[in-house]
Amino acid sequence: KTIPEVFRETVAKFGPRDAIIVPAQDVALSYYDLDREIDLLASGLLALGLEKGDRIGIWSPNNLEWILSQYATARIGLILVNINPAYRLSELEYALKKSGCTALITAEKFKSSHYFEMIRTLVPELALSEQVQLESKALPNLKFVIGIHEDPGAGILAFTDIMKLGGPAQQLRLEEITKSLSPDDPINIQFTSGTTGAPKGATLTHSNIINNAANVVGRMNFSETDRLCIPVPLYHCFGMVMGSLGCVTQGACMVFPGEAFEPEETLKAVSETQCTALYGVPTMFVALLDHPHLDDFDLSTLRTGIMAGAPCPIEVMKQVVAQLNMSEVTIAYGMTETSPVSFQSNVDDPIEKRVATVGRIHPNIEVKIMDEGGEITQVGTKGELWTRGYSVMQGYWDDAEKTKEVIVDGGWMKTGDLAILDEEGYCAIVGRLKDMIIRGGENIYPREVEEFLFTHPDIQDVQIFGIPHEKFGEEVCCWIVPQSGAKLNEGDVKSYCKNQIAHYKVPKHVRIVSELPMTVTGKPQKFVMRDQMMELLN
Ligand code: ATP
Ligand code: MG
Repeated sequence: KTIPEVFRETVAKFGPRDAIIVPAQDVALSYYDLDREIDLLASGLLALGLEKGDRIGIWSPNNLEWILSQYATARIGLILVNINPAYRLSELEYALKKSGCTALITAEKFKSSHYFEMIRTLVPELALSEQVQLESKALPNLKFVIGIHEDPGAGILAFTDIMKLGGPAQQLRLEEITKSLSPDDPINIQFTSGTTGAPKGATLTHSNIINNAANVVGRMNFSETDRLCIPVPLYHCFGMVMGSLGCVTQGACMVFPGEAFEPEETLKAVSETQCTALYGVPTMFVALLDHPHLDDFDLSTLRTGIMAGAPCPIEVMKQVVAQLNMSEVTIAYGMTETSPVSFQSNVDDPIEKRVATVGRIHPNIEVKIMDEGGEITQVGTKGELWTRGYSVMQGYWDDAEKTKEVIVDGGWMKTGDLAILDEEGYCAIVGRLKDMIIRGGENIYPREVEEFLFTHPDIQDVQIFGIPHEKFGEEVCCWIVPQSGAKLNEGDVKSYCKNQIAHYKVPKHVRIVSELPMTVTGKPQKFVMRDQMMELLN
C-alpha cells in the first residue's frame, strides 16, 4: 500500500479520534480535520505546479506544518527531503543542490537560527522577486520558498496562502495522482544522523517506511487509544517514521511537546495529554530522569515506548521502568538506510533481555552476522550485522558509488555495526565497526568500557574512543560528563578502572566536559571528540 491509502483507511475507521496535539501551537486535530488540512496543502502545492517525483525540502523543527507537509507531499507523489534543523548555510545549500529541490518549506527560525535570513542570503533573488516563480543562480532548480509564518516577507510564500491556492480542478487531479502512486515510488530522502561523519541521504519508498512504521508500533501493541509523545526530531526517521507514520497506521494520536527536545516540556506534555507511550534516545531519558521535580508529574498513563539510536546503559533502563512507569518500554535497533528498524524487543521480554539486547528480528527481514573473512559466524560470535528485506532503501540519492559500498550481492545491507546473535534470536549490538579500537593488536569495544564506567556514581555520561598512537596503533581516550555537583578528575577515573578492567582498556587520556558534541538526534559524535582530542594533545 501507499502512504495516502493507509492514511485514508485510518480516517475512514477513526476519523473523529484525536490525530495530533501540539500544545505550543494550541493545536488539537482529529483525523478528519487533519485529513482536510492535508488536502488543502496538497491541492495548493499542485496549484503551484509541483509534479510527482519533484523534490521538496523541509527545513523546520517539529510543528503541525511539518506533519501537514509530510502527508500532503505523499498524497501527490512528491519526494520530501528532510533537512536538518541544525544546518547552516553551506550545509543547506549542499542538501538542496544534491537533491535538486524544486521547493523548500521552511520555518522562520529555530533557537538562535534565523532561517528566513539565511535563505535570503543563499538566494538573494528572493528580495527582488515580484513573480511567483523564483530564478536563483545558486540553486537553479529552486522555484519556490514557502515560509511557515503569516507574513514571511518579500519572495517567500506564506504556508497558509498555499493552503488557499487549490480549487476543484486541483482536488480532481489530487485524486487521480493519489490513485496512480505505487508502493515502490520513492517518497522521501532521509539523512543519516552524521554520527560517524557527513550525513548521507537515503532514498526510501512508500513501502519501505509504511511497512516499517506498522511493524514498529505493532511490537508495542499500539491501537487507536494510544497517545505517543514525540520529542525526537521529525527530521529523522525516529520521529517521522516510527513516530508520526506509526501513529497513522493505527489511528493513534501524536503529541509534539515542543520544537525540539526539552525535558520539562516533555514531562508536561506526557502528563497533561495523558500519553501512553514515549520515544527518545538514551541521553533524553537520562535528562528526564535527572529532572529535579520528576515526581511532580503524573506519568501514570505511560505504558510503553522506544529507546533507540544508541546503546542504552543498564542503569538507565531500570530507572525508566521504575520511575517513568514504562514497564513495556522496548529497545529498537535500526538505521536510516533500513527504514529504519530491524530489531526490537517485545513488551514482555524479561528486563535483562531488553537491557542486554535489541530484541528479535522484525517480520520479513533476514539477518546474518559476518566475520572479517566474509563468512557467516557461529551463533554467539561477534561480527558485522547484515540485513535484507523490504526495508532496505533504494540507495543513497544520486550516489551509486556509495550505495554499492553498503548494499551488496543479493540486496544485503552492510550495517557497519558489530553484533552477536544468541540461540533464541536475540541480538546484542556491541558497537560500530568504525569505533572499534585496536590497541597493540587487542580489540577494544568502547561500549564495554563505557558500561563499566557508568557504574561510577559520579559519572552522568561517558564516551570511549580511540586516537592514533605511534607504538600501539591506537590509544584509548575518554570524555566524561560528571553528575551535577560531582567533583571528578582524571586520576579518579583511572584509579577506578585499575584492577577492575584489563590494563589495555583503561583510558590513557581522560577529559572532563560539561557536554558532549551531539547530532541533532542526540547521539554523541565520537569523530568530533577524536579530532578535538588530537588537537589538544598536539
Ligand atoms: P551516520 O551513518 O551518518 O554516521 P548514524 O549511523 O548514527 O549516522 P542513523 O541512521 O540515525 O545514523 O543511526 C543508525 C545507527 O545508530 C546504527 O547503525 C547503530 O550504530 C546505531 N543504533 C541504532 N539503534 C541502536 C541501538 N538500539 N543500540 C545501539 N546502537 C544503535
Ligand atoms: Mg550510519
